[in-house]
Amino acid sequence: MSDNTTYSLADLQSWANASKALAKPGKLAVFGDPIAHSLSPQMHNPALEAAKIDAEYVRLHIAPANLETALRELPKQGFIGTNVTIPHKTEVAKIVDHVSEVARRTGAVNTVLVNKENGELTGHSTDGPGFQRAIREEFSVDLKDLRILILGAGGGAGRAVAVQCAMEHCERLVLANRTLSKVKTLEAELEEFFHDPDRLEGPAERLTAIALEDAEALANELYQIDLIVNATSIGMKTTDPPLIPCHQIQPHHLVYDMIYSPPRTRLLADAEAAGARAANGLSMLLWQGALAFEFWFNQEAPVEAMRKGLTDALKD
Ligand code: NAP
Repeated sequence: MSDNTTYSLADLQSWANASKALAKPGKLAVFGDPIAHSLSPQMHNPALEAAKIDAEYVRLHIAPANLETALRELPKQGFIGTNVTIPHKTEVAKIVDHVSEVARRTGAVNTVLVNKENGELTGHSTDGPGFQRAIREEFSVDLKDLRILILGAGGGAGRAVAVQCAMEHCERLVLANRTLSKVKTLEAELEEFFHDPDRLEGPAERLTAIALEDAEALANELYQIDLIVNATSIGMKTTDPPLIPCHQIQPHHLVYDMIYSPPRTRLLADAEAAGARAANGLSMLLWQGALAFEFWFNQEAPVEAMRKGLTDALKD
């Protein structure tokens, strides 16, 4: 699908008719509100093509009030599954029949798989695992070996990444957020992952939560951190303020900004200027999609076709 066609709930309910113009059967979708901006079709359709799967991936504009109706329509209309994006990830986790361990801990679902036999829906979260693959690809390191600071750990994506880092038993995890109460709650939920008698305990707490505005705490933490992750929306606009003072970024830091548009945020530019290694969120978008593909088809995703689809879409 090369156009920006967006379908509605009414279209989904009469799918045979609404999808007539598609070159292949529409069997996968992304639900969102808004949805026209989603790059998922440009990533998944080349993958379906490369894997020679006779299916097409479409955008569905689904309002929150219609979410459950739309999800229950998927098996009736022969769908394999769907992705879900803003603002549905939390609600979907409450609606589906089964949730994976990662999705349960994250409290969010971004990938739904339809059981062909009984129509039951299983929710997965591939954002955290996608982030893990992205960090390995970008920096050739594993989360378990890193001391990690997540800026915006109280948001949806930040929380998914924090859960993944905890489940991987990373060396240290610092949860920073504008609204401190959100990361205090998360800290309590993740505490169980940070009691390992075999690990050497240094003076710093292995898990801690701080306010993003607490400049002193942030400066102290940056001395004891390997990987800095931006999971806030700050940096999407060129007029956005710096997230951390540029002089506090050190050459040994790895800096990952989940934002991919613009491709080089102020944080990434500051990191490069400081001699640090830096990468944007395109690799996370790619790998969360590749893992969704693997849940739907139980086969390895054609990652290079997906990468090309995404980079071509971002050039347009
Ligand atoms: P979200 O749930 O709305 O969370 C937004 C986060 O940003 C929260 O932590 C929020 O803090 C913080 N924030 C917003 N405005 C702020 C400000 N002015 N000052 C300080 N903090 C601020 O959004 P999300 O879905 O997690 O997305 C967050 C970012 O990740 C977005 O840029 C999105 O594009 C990106 N993302 C990338 C991928 C990928 O695959 N690369 C996937 C998902 C998301 P409060 O909790 O205090 O409100």
